[in-house]
Amino acid sequence: MTISEQPVKRRQDYDGTSPFPGAEEHAPARRAQVALTAAIVILPFVALGAMIVLAWGQGVALADLLLATAFYVVTGLGVTVGFHRLLTHGSFTARPWLRVALAIAGSMGFQGNVIDWVAVHRRHHAFTDEPGDPHSPYRYGTGLRGQLRGLAHAHLGWLFTDDQTPAERYAPDLLADPAMTRVMRAFPALCALSLALPFLAGWAITGTLYGGLTAFLWAGLIRVALLQHVTWSVNSLCHVIGSRPFKTRRHDRATNLWPLALLSFGESWHNGHHSDPTCARHGLDRGQIDPSGGMIRLFERLGWASDVRWPDADRVQRRRTVPLSRSRAPAGD
Ligand SMILES: [Zn+2]
Ligand SMILES: [Zn+2]
Repeated sequence: MTISEQPVKRRQDYDGTSPFPGAEEHAPARRAQVALTAAIVILPFVALGAMIVLAWGQGVALADLLLATAFYVVTGLGVTVGFHRLLTHGSFTARPWLRVALAIAGSMGFQGNVIDWVAVHRRHHAFTDEPGDPHSPYRYGTGLRGQLRGLAHAHLGWLFTDDQTPAERYAPDLLADPAMTRVMRAFPALCALSLALPFLAGWAITGTLYGGLTAFLWAGLIRVALLQHVTWSVNSLCHVIGSRPFKTRRHDRATNLWPLALLSFGESWHNGHHSDPTCARHGLDRGQIDPSGGMIRLFERLGWASDVRWPDADRVQRRRTVPLSRSRAPAGD
């Protein structure tokens, strides 16, 4: 261990490169929690394996792929537009029914109940890439081994630790909202619905139980797996790989990663997001495709969204890192 890899003691002492204090101390989660998390992570891949065997020589029905796309879009936008931009950051005000609909759609993404999701994400913004961040890829330092370990931790390792984020502290507004606490309590039922609906739709479309099964696997579990890994990639890859055209807070290393822009519905413009977290658009530059921002624009035109915080051109200019050749350097260094 070199001097710079000595664990630091407090957040104020963090230098941007050392392992976080207590990085090696993992409070193990309860066995039931570990088993449940493991099942949620592993089962979709078992489904993928099963599907390849089933589909071999028979192809996959168009209905399966159309259903998978539809469920991916609805639950994905529920997470990005609902959980993230509306409920975590207040980027716009939604009609009450739309707010609930988005919270329900996001809950069907299998990423935790709405209030806990928001609490964890607000904590991520409060402590980005510093001790206290629930899923920073810099947890184990910036050496090669530490960085690889940190990526695994930020992607999905953090889900297996018992690191509670108190909603009372980070999401008191949602706890005080009866509609949101109802959606929170309905989370297990919404997860069941998220898998039952593709099965029923596949069954109805094909008229066979086999059609229901393939729709359940493709539009249910495989769709969940893809959305989870795209979301987790924003936590892991989008703090390590990519460009940093905008200034962020000290130690905050969020990046823009264009290959994930479409699949993540614009969330991989993560440097833009961290530079201005309450902004409704994350793709701040021309050509940065941001379907979530487009959806919020549509809601605004329909009169369903108001007080939208669109990017301010002057602010965007001021936040730009100059000179551009240094834009790949860690922000704040
Ligand atoms: Zn982030
Ligand atoms: Zn955010």
